[in-house]
Amino acid sequence: MPTPYILYSDGNGNIFEDTSLYAAGRAGWDAMPVPEEDWIILPEGGNLYELPGRRGIGIDVHTGEMRLCEKGWAVAAFIPPAHTGLFIAAYETLPDAPTLPLFCYTAVGWFNNQYYVPAVRIEKDIRQECAGYDDTKIEQGTKHLLQAYPGNRLVKHLMENCCMTYHCPAARNFALGRWECPIPSSPACNANCVGCISFQPEEESIVSTQDRLTFKPLPEEIVEFAVPHLMTAPYPIVSFGQGCEGEPLLMWETIREAIIEIRRHTDKGSININTNGSKPDAVRALCEAGLNSIRVSTNSARKRIYDPYYRPNNYRFEDIIDSLKVMRSFGGWTSINYFVFPGMTDSVEEYEALRQLIIDTDLCMIQWRNFNIDPDWYMGKIGAYETGDMLGMKQVMQLLREEFPNLKFGYFNPSMERMKGNYESDFAGSERY
Ligand code: SF4
Repeated sequence: MPTPYILYSDGNGNIFEDTSLYAAGRAGWDAMPVPEEDWIILPEGGNLYELPGRRGIGIDVHTGEMRLCEKGWAVAAFIPPAHTGLFIAAYETLPDAPTLPLFCYTAVGWFNNQYYVPAVRIEKDIRQECAGYDDTKIEQGTKHLLQAYPGNRLVKHLMENCCMTYHCPAARNFALGRWECPIPSSPACNANCVGCISFQPEEESIVSTQDRLTFKPLPEEIVEFAVPHLMTAPYPIVSFGQGCEGEPLLMWETIREAIIEIRRHTDKGSININTNGSKPDAVRALCEAGLNSIRVSTNSARKRIYDPYYRPNNYRFEDIIDSLKVMRSFGGWTSINYFVFPGMTDSVEEYEALRQLIIDTDLCMIQWRNFNIDPDWYMGKIGAYETGDMLGMKQVMQLLREEFPNLKFGYFNPSMERMKGNYESDFAGSERY
């Protein structure tokens, strides 16, 4: 696959290729060539963004020199779930450039009438493929659930806000009666993530992509729809901890009561929690109640990179490690929701720290998630002016595969069928493979 040409925008949403420059990538603070084999066609569901106040950096097709594309603003790609970006878009930020909103900005180029991105499909499960969403069926499902659960504030929130306003893929799957059903529960959080998607402080120029839940659901409100979903959906999962709330472990007593009641009615499916992992004792109580899997979010396996991003209240980085260990001690499944930032994630120091985390926690899975954040803003906020030597994202993945053959790579929480059955064949869309 030859290197594609750089793209630029005219600032009015029109995007053009510049055939005098090949597209480059970025890792950390550095622009660099992207290996030809890393480019794939932009998968369906991907989007393009023009980056105001930024000039793209490309490679001169004749001299091989790096230089700016002065024809317009830089362009980046938002790659769809199930794919992990290997390089960030390369650009130079001009003074007074606005902070970019909370999306991922992967490198992108143009060749043979196609957009190309440096990325890998890291997950076979099709649960968030845009081709699988039928708006008419979703509207019918929404109406049905609102009628089936009158007075249930959580169903009302999930259908009116998450499904019909935010177009949350998980809430849309709930409306379609399949796969992973979201259960937000906490209006508050004990962290202050720089790139929080449900709360951004007034003084920041960017906004959160969705509003935080404003009420504390009752266990009954959770159980009422969770049990039928687990009993009827294919590859059923119910997941506490969603993008439209704070930290679910702050609601552990409510969640524990709900899990106990759910398991009194059915042993089907998986009960999962997506969390910042801040309260290992609460995780222990939930494991005793019947929690099956946990996904702990982190931007790094290093405390010195974690702390300036999460800005934790009354918990420590070590607590998230303990939460993973507690879950494994009960034989449960553990994942990290690993925010991938090329140049940071594939630095030698990060790779060594990640290896140690995998060993110390007997980790089951890494969900290689694209980091939805303005790269310069993020690096500035955490004070990362030096990234150290880099290995390359693909190299890191390969080294980990070789050293930890049982460690799973993906993008989504696995179903019980996949955790207990054949991981390579028990998932939504497996009939394709
Ligand atoms: S842990 Fe989640 S809800 Fe809390 S600040 Fe971070 S992103 Fe926001």
